Amino acid sequence: MQRIHYFDNNATTRVAPEVVEAMMPFLTESWGNPSSAYTFGHEVMCHVDRAREQVAALINADPKEVTFTSCGTESDNAAFHSALATQPEKRHLITTAVEHSANINYGQYLKKKGCDVTFLPVDASGALDLQMLEKTIRPDTALVSVMWANNETGVIFPVAEIAALCRGKGVLFHTDAVQVPGKLKVDVRELGVDFLSLSAHKLNAPKGIGLLYVKRRTKFQPLVIGGHQERGRRGGTENVPYMVGFGRAAELALARLGEENDRVRALRDRLETTLLSTVSHTCLNGAKEPRLPNTSNIAFDFVEAEAVLMLLDQAGLCASSGSACTTGSLDPSHVLTAMGVSPMRARGSLRLSLGYYNTDEDVDLLLKTLPPIIEKLRAISPLNPQHPDNDQYNVEAARAKAEKELAAISFQ
Ligand code: PLP
Repeated sequence: MQRIHYFDNNATTRVAPEVVEAMMPFLTESWGNPSSAYTFGHEVMCHVDRAREQVAALINADPKEVTFTSCGTESDNAAFHSALATQPEKRHLITTAVEHSANINYGQYLKKKGCDVTFLPVDASGALDLQMLEKTIRPDTALVSVMWANNETGVIFPVAEIAALCRGKGVLFHTDAVQVPGKLKVDVRELGVDFLSLSAHKLNAPKGIGLLYVKRRTKFQPLVIGGHQERGRRGGTENVPYMVGFGRAAELALARLGEENDRVRALRDRLETTLLSTVSHTCLNGAKEPRLPNTSNIAFDFVEAEAVLMLLDQAGLCASSGSACTTGSLDPSHVLTAMGVSPMRARGSLRLSLGYYNTDEDVDLLLKTLPPIIEKLRAISPLNPQHPDNDQYNVEAARAKAEKELAAISFQ
């Protein structure tokens, strides 16, 4: 099999061998139900408790404040649900236009159910206007939910400041921190948030496990109602191997945080600086700082990102044009669109996200492979003003024509 050179760590990450090793006993000999009354179950529960302590340590929470869920999406939904269910007199929510689809689509769903949901805009650098946020808070606002770091651009929002602002107004605050652990220090006490969501598969653990932090003494109403698991906060028999894997991954991420960040940042910066300085008609989408150390979102004018990704794939290089959850959609990224990036530029944008297993060799290969791909595609692109069939004023017209032709083909 061709070796994979993986630049899509914001979509998911490779499961660490140490994590697999920690999980194996719970897929083989220790398969008891942790809620059972006999020793075979109790012993398993001890490992669930240990996993809870490990993930709590990663975010400096009390283990009792941690509820395991099935994924980041469920954690996000559960925070929205709980804020509304525990404050039935409040029907207004505030979030941003650049959240992950877990929040955007749940917000749209709540709107259809009769809630009032405000999606705050961002500026061209991807930043929020905190004064506007403050003015948007109303007496009937049940929750403010602002992601910590954007999964497409890596742009970081000042969540500690927003949490303080919400506290001052007596409004609950949730942050989707799915992209953050392992990349920045997470300390829920310093942040002062009421709810925080994480997902294990961004942290070298398997897909299908996440957590919701709920600050002590915050009222909580579960989304998944069933048995008494998770102290009544989420029904369903515990996914023990995945909890144990998440715990081990949290422990590794915490131990590696400082030095690993410097290494990944250096790789990302070399990649980004070289691409921006050697390939013409490129620019960075979103603010350079504050930004996650592993993420770079670059616009390559006059190409379609999907074509670039196909050619990169042939060379064993994995990257993306945005969130994996919106792949397959013909619409340009909602994050870039909210930042005012033109549809044409958004469609030519690549997200490169690095992780623990990336090496200098991966970066060298991407730097050798990507520029000729861009050059080759630009030479045949109807979007390229240098193309013999185009002048620089008909780029949008060429795109509209190409889209019309594409639509005609797919309806035949
Ligand atoms: N929030 C953000 C910022 C994400 O990047 C993702 C996944 O890409 C999610 C939420 C959803 O997490 P999960 O895939 O565990 O449902």
